[in-house]
Amino acid sequence: MFEKEKQQIVNMSLRLYNEKLIVGTWGNLSMRLKDKNGEELYLVTPSGMEYEDTKIEDLVILNEQGDIVEGHRNPTSELKMHIKIYKSINNINAIIHTHSTYATACAVAGVTIPMMVEDMIQHIGGDVRVAKYALPGTDELASYAVEALKERNGALLKNHGVIGIGKSMVDAYKSCILIEKSAKILIYAKILGHVHLLSTEDAEKMIEYYNNKYGQK
Ligand SMILES: [Zn+2]
Repeated sequence: MFEKEKQQIVNMSLRLYNEKLIVGTWGNLSMRLKDKNGEELYLVTPSGMEYEDTKIEDLVILNEQGDIVEGHRNPTSELKMHIKIYKSINNINAIIHTHSTYATACAVAGVTIPMMVEDMIQHIGGDVRVAKYALPGTDELASYAVEALKERNGALLKNHGVIGIGKSMVDAYKSCILIEKSAKILIYAKILGHVHLLSTEDAEKMIEYYNNKYGQK
C-alpha cells in the first residue's frame, strides 16, 4: 500500500543525496498517512541503508504506537523524533532530517540562523532555532526538537544537523534547503563583516504575504 508515497520518499532521498544534503546512510525521511479507517500511519526510511540502494520495499510503515504494520527492515533510528513531531504538530505531513554541512556548522557553534533573507523567513516562519543537545535517537532529542520547532518549519539540532518539516515532502525539502542556504549566507556574511538583520515588523509582513498572496493562489 501507499506505493505513490513510497516512491516520493525514494525519489526525495536520492535528490537529497545527489544535492549533498545527506551523505552515507545518515539522515532520514518520513510521511504521515491515513489508512482507510482514518487511523494515522507513518511511512519512514529504514535504518542505516545506503540511499542509492534503498527501494520502495525497504520503507517501513508504523502505526501510532510505533508498531510495524508493513515492511521487513528496521525503521530509522530517529523514529521517536519523527513520531513525536507528528503528534505535537498537527498541520504537517512530512519530515526530513539531514546533516547538511553549513547548517550543521551553525548547530555545532550553537548559532541561531537569524532573520536575514526573505525566502527563509517566509518558508520557515522566522529564525531557525538550535534545539538543546541530546543523544541521537533519544526521547530527549525528540522533545527538544519539538520545542525548537514551535511555530517554525525547521530547526537545528545541536551538534547534529537539521530538521525540516512541511505540509508535503516538497515543503519539508524546501525547509531543509533554505536552512542550508541561509546557514551558508550567515557564515559568508560574518566573514565579510556585519550581519544586518531584517526587522520583526518587515519579517511579519513577508510571512503574511507568503501565507496569503504569494504564488498561484
Ligand atoms: Zn541525525
